[in-house]
Amino acid sequence: MKSGAPRRLVLLGPPGSGKGTQAARLSLELGIPAISTGDILRAQQEADTLHGGELRRYLDRGELVPDSLVIDIIRHRLQDPDTKNGFILDGFPRNGGQGEALDSMLEELRRRIEAAIYLAIAAPALVERLRHRIAVEQRSDDRPEVVAHRIDVYLAQTTPLIEYYRRDGRLLEIAAEQAPDVVYGSILKALAG
Ligand code: AMP
Repeated sequence: MKSGAPRRLVLLGPPGSGKGTQAARLSLELGIPAISTGDILRAQQEADTLHGGELRRYLDRGELVPDSLVIDIIRHRLQDPDTKNGFILDGFPRNGGQGEALDSMLEELRRRIEAAIYLAIAAPALVERLRHRIAVEQRSDDRPEVVAHRIDVYLAQTTPLIEYYRRDGRLLEIAAEQAPDVVYGSILKALAG
C-alpha cells in the first residue's frame, strides 16, 4: 500500500455486506483501528444495567439508536491516540445527519474522511448471508423479521450517504458479492487508486 493511500475511511453497505470482515482485514494491513458502532453499542448494552434495557429496545428491533448517542461515541473515540494515523469506521455514519456531524467534527480536528468504501450487494445475497450468520453468531437482530427491517432502515436512511460521498469524489464503489478475499483485493486496488 502506498504511503499516500487514504487512511481515514468509512465503510458503507447494507447489513450482511461484509463490512465487519473487511474492516478487520484492513485494520491489520494498515495498522489502524476498526471502529464499529454496533460492537460498541452491544458492549454498552451488556455492561450498563441502567441504560442497557433502553439500548436493547433499539438493537433488538433493528432501529437506529438516537444520533446524539452515536455521534458522542464517535467524537470520543476519535480523540483516542490510536486514531492519529487513521481509522476505519464500520457502521457509522448511518444517515445524512451523522455524515455531516462526522465531517464537521473532523474539520475541527483538521482532518477529513478521505474515502467511503461502499460494499455494493443485492438484497437476495444479503438475506442468504444473514441467514448463515444467525446460525454462527446468534445475534438477536439477525432473526429474519428483524433482518428485513434492518435492510429497510438501511435503504431509507443510509443509502443517501452513497450520494453524499459520491458528490465530492470520496466514494469507492466495490462489487461485494464475491468471496471475501476477492472483495478485499478490490478494496486494496481501489485504495491504491
Ligand atoms: P451493526 O452491527 O452495524 O449492524 O449495528 C447493529 C445495531 O446497532 C443497528 O441495527 C442499530 O440499532 C445500532 N447502530 C449501529 N451503528 C449505528 C449508528 N451509526 N446509528 C444508529 N444506530 C446504530
